[in-house]
Amino acid sequence: MLAVAPEFAVRVRRNEPLSRHTSWHVGGPAEVFFNPRDRGELAAFLRGVPADTPIHWIGLGSNLLVRDGGLQGVVISTHGTLDELSRLNETMVHAGAGVACARIARQCIKWGLGPAEFFAGIPGTLGGALAMNAGAFGGETWQHVRAVETIDRGGHEHRRAATEYHTGYRQVSAPASEEWFLAADLAFERRPGAHESEVRTLLERRKAAQPIGEWSCGSVFTNPPGDHAARLIEAAGLKGFRIGDASVSHKHANFIINHGQASAADLERLISHVRDTVARVHGVALHPEVRIVGVP
Ligand SMILES: Cc1cc2nc3c(=O)[nH]c(=O)nc-3n(C[C@H](O)[C@H](O)[C@H](O)COP(=O)(O)OP(=O)(O)OC[C@H]3O[C@@H](n4cnc5c(N)ncnc54)[C@H](O)[C@@H]3O)c2cc1C
Repeated sequence: MLAVAPEFAVRVRRNEPLSRHTSWHVGGPAEVFFNPRDRGELAAFLRGVPADTPIHWIGLGSNLLVRDGGLQGVVISTHGTLDELSRLNETMVHAGAGVACARIARQCIKWGLGPAEFFAGIPGTLGGALAMNAGAFGGETWQHVRAVETIDRGGHEHRRAATEYHTGYRQVSAPASEEWFLAADLAFERRPGAHESEVRTLLERRKAAQPIGEWSCGSVFTNPPGDHAARLIEAAGLKGFRIGDASVSHKHANFIINHGQASAADLERLISHVRDTVARVHGVALHPEVRIVGVP
């Protein structure tokens, strides 16, 4: 069993079901689940993790399929922590990795900054959005990043310019492996007239097109060049296709819904079925946007 120093005992849970921490509500246990109070505690904890122990990070689990066997090693949760959000100057904002993207959208509107409304459409943390280059309504996370602060498994902090990362559509390649986001400096423009109603309008539009409120991870597949995964899935006749308690949404074919009792294995089988069917029918290879991790 992985040893944990006694000073961390209150912040550590063993065999924590990750189904409690993912928007699909599936996922087996994390061997060790740690929710640090702050950076100092996080760094001290990381220094005590043996070099051969896997380390995973989780924000709000809105883009994660954790398999039923769970995750071995350590899971660092940023939920409710690393949540500083401040204004650096006229147009720059500093946000911790644990800040919910929707909060960034709301606060930027209050500060008269934009365009940040797109963050309201991403039900995750800034850390997850940085890892995914999350985007919505035509906006993308890394368009706004000027610098990030990271931490490595030795607990050492680094400050890196955005130019050190290669980013694309839902893709981020980092200059170093095993370095995770603590915070970012984000640049916006002055938008003195910005109003919360703009966010509400965007969210209403989205609610009309997507099964918001059901258990999903958003879009399962990235869009192939020049097309939409949802269109291809629907045209392959897969809307409503069901495995166990998981089905392809009738409202938006790139969403897969857990109706309550689906296992991660059901979801993964359905993802494979959709991918194989689209490849057979259309000759197009779909790639999962959702990150699939853990032991089957
Ligand atoms: C209803 C719904 C709608 C969605 N709509 C959109 C959308 O419009 N656009 C879009 O892009 N996404 C969308 N998503 C997907 C998801 O919200 C985003 O990918 C989001 O950025 C994930 O953030 P998270 O905090 O939940 O990350 P998690 O799901 O917890 O993790 C995702 C990945 O990020 C890594 N990670 C998390 N925190 C850190 C960190 N601090 N440092 C390094 N790595 C980290 C994790 O290890 C994992 O690999 C949607 C999801 C749902 C459920």
